[in-house]
Amino acid sequence: MKINCAGFLDRSRVNGPGERAVLWVQGCPLHCPGCFNRSLWSFKKTHLISAEDVAETIISLPGIDGITFSGGEPFCQALPLAEVGNLIRREGLSVVTFSGFPAEVLFSSGRSAWRELIRVTDLLVAGPYIRDAPCGTSLCGSRNQEILHLSTRIPRTAYPERDARSVEFTISRHGEITTTGFPEMSFFYQKEECG
Ligand code: SF4
Repeated sequence: MKINCAGFLDRSRVNGPGERAVLWVQGCPLHCPGCFNRSLWSFKKTHLISAEDVAETIISLPGIDGITFSGGEPFCQALPLAEVGNLIRREGLSVVTFSGFPAEVLFSSGRSAWRELIRVTDLLVAGPYIRDAPCGTSLCGSRNQEILHLSTRIPRTAYPERDARSVEFTISRHGEITTTGFPEMSFFYQKEECG
């Protein structure tokens, strides 16, 4: 099964503890008012890539701590993302997963694919973005969202390591600028060509 991938960044310091690759999935059914990532709502096919290829890329990155799954809604592509998690965790790397579903919905779901993604997730950031509930917590777009440590692979002391309003700009060797992080509102992702 392939991942419908909206974007990939091989190194970021604002999407979880340490230096992490980030994969943004295409498609989100939640449509939170004020979402900065509206271009990722559609489930149109964007870049289809296998879990094995993603894992191989991440494992080959020198000094990388793991992967962050963002979106879009990662739990809408839970099975192939869980496969990525399985493969990279075998190499000692860690998984951070963002979800717009509340934690209690994720944990009470009987869906085996969701259980699989939870099983390989070390740090879960869960809950919809609520525009009228701003917060200053690292990794959260609004104060209803929860940060849950699901394993000891990412120590509780690893976060917060910077304030929540960090925004990161990455310029690729081809001149593409990726902007990501936590501005005044929801977390966001944007890619544009350098003129
Ligand atoms: S904030 Fe996240 S969960 Fe909400 S609509 Fe945007 S991508 Fe989906």
